[in-house]
Amino acid sequence: MDNYLSGLPDNVSHLRQRAGFQLIEHDLIQPLPEDWPVDAVFNLASPASPPYYLAHPIETARVNAQGTYHLLELARHHGARYLQASTSEVYGDPLVHPQPESYWGNVNPNGIRSCYDEGKRFAESLVMDYCRLGLDARIIRIFNTYGPRNRADDGRVVPNFIDRALRRLPLPVHGDGSQTRSFCYVEDLVRGMLAAQLHDGTRGEVFNLGNPGEFTMLELAELVQRLTGDASGVEFQPAREDDPSRRRPDITKATAKLGWTPRVNLEEGLRRTIAWFREHGA
Ligand code: UDP
Repeated sequence: MDNYLSGLPDNVSHLRQRAGFQLIEHDLIQPLPEDWPVDAVFNLASPASPPYYLAHPIETARVNAQGTYHLLELARHHGARYLQASTSEVYGDPLVHPQPESYWGNVNPNGIRSCYDEGKRFAESLVMDYCRLGLDARIIRIFNTYGPRNRADDGRVVPNFIDRALRRLPLPVHGDGSQTRSFCYVEDLVRGMLAAQLHDGTRGEVFNLGNPGEFTMLELAELVQRLTGDASGVEFQPAREDDPSRRRPDITKATAKLGWTPRVNLEEGLRRTIAWFREHGA
């Protein structure tokens, strides 16, 4: 299900012929018919790229509040398993490093990013209330994930750098480029997401899912340029408001309880993503 605010129908065109696959265009801010049969709900409905949620703050806050409520009700009605995609943004600009699930975060409650940060935090709170009332639910906190099928105009740093490098344009680095992120390849994330939903003993649990390798944006720019053979350099731009200065997941819990660790390091993941962008990208 998608309303295509930031997603693209082409991304699932290879699945259309599969038996049992159905794609429904729907905005989850609107109620759902209760009689849709479901065994499991994976709620990933929300813009996740800063330029998209900054352009659609009300929709972002509403889909994380009302959309989550509608899917929780659907899951409750059918006794289905429920997985909530949350985000490392719930930690805000973290004062604890790396971030374990037990850290409550350092979030601006009404800044420009709060439609997303507080939207996800509200969603977490609602999920846990349904869980305490009997729903079989869990939460994953996704750290900066990238890979094939990212939009070229997604706006997040990995697709943006790759798109620009392939077009031989300088890479726009916000601030001084010393801020860090930990980048997870999409296949690793999907494995972790399925494990969190399907493993026994995950009800009511919160899991960080991300790759603990931590890189500055300048290091990322250098790596993308090396792998694409681009020599256009970087151009510095003003830092984003409320931009977290560092971020790295503590994945001890996911490793212990789900047997999950990421397998694809940044260089390998970038190689695969660049290959995909060369073929399909711009
Ligand atoms: N960033 C950048 N250039 C870009 C896009 C992003 O320097 O073209 C920076 C951004 O300011 C942030 C980091 O890269 O410090 C990660 O940004 P992104 O939008 O990918 O995700 P975030 O972790 O902020 O949600």
